[in-house]
Amino acid sequence: MTQKTLSPDLVRQVKLRLLKMHFEAGVGHIGGNLSSLEILLCLYHRVLQPTDQFVLSKGHAAGALYTTLWSIGELTDEELKTFHKDGTRLSGHPPVGSIPAIIFSNGSLGHGPGQAAGLALAKKLRGEPGHVFCLCSDGEWNEGSCWESLIFAKQQKLGNLTFIIDVNGLQGFGTTKEVADLEPFADKFRAFGWRAVQVDGHDIDSLSASLTPSSKQKWPRAVLARTRKGSGVSFMEGKMEWHYLPMSPAQYAAAVKEIESGVPASIL
Ligand SMILES: [Mg+2]
Repeated sequence: MTQKTLSPDLVRQVKLRLLKMHFEAGVGHIGGNLSSLEILLCLYHRVLQPTDQFVLSKGHAAGALYTTLWSIGELTDEELKTFHKDGTRLSGHPPVGSIPAIIFSNGSLGHGPGQAAGLALAKKLRGEPGHVFCLCSDGEWNEGSCWESLIFAKQQKLGNLTFIIDVNGLQGFGTTKEVADLEPFADKFRAFGWRAVQVDGHDIDSLSASLTPSSKQKWPRAVLARTRKGSGVSFMEGKMEWHYLPMSPAQYAAAVKEIESGVPASIL
């Protein structure tokens, strides 16, 4: 596959567009969108092949997906302006078929892993090529259905399946450690018979290397992407409230200034 250019400057441009879209819509969830952005950019610019399928299980990261699709020319700037508006195709928690990239409704968490495992089994039974990827949040792994999907996928030897977990260490009600500690997270996947690797979820080259499946892959695998909620905006990073808060005009201006300059914003 010809690797598309995914430069630091492009990542910055997409991050700015994501901030603008969320600010203009006056909605929250920017923290978990910023933590997933490089994962999605890496998938869509470098990893996904025409026969592959992708399931966005952390539906609240729809904004990061929309701006990633914008970066590859599949959504227009005009359409991004409709984000979260009445009648839009681009809602905050995307329903199935709203755009071609959304093949299941998600947002209520814990469903994507089972959906992706089903798609991978269907591919295997039909002898179809391609790989199935699913992007989850870490807090989502509080749901028992996620663990059931691990048992199922191992039993079915789904070597065409990869779960990517955005491990930002935070969820709606606190840190994952406070709410329901998941560590040692990678070992838990291994205990279910999965392969598991850990990677810096903001390092494009490391992500590319980890996400690209091997043709020799025989077992399902998990890529645990260690990320920072609110990545790139110092006053948001690691703060639970940015799961929910919309940005004020001053906060938006400071965030843009920081992304453009690389100098931490002085606000709050
Ligand atoms: Mg999280």
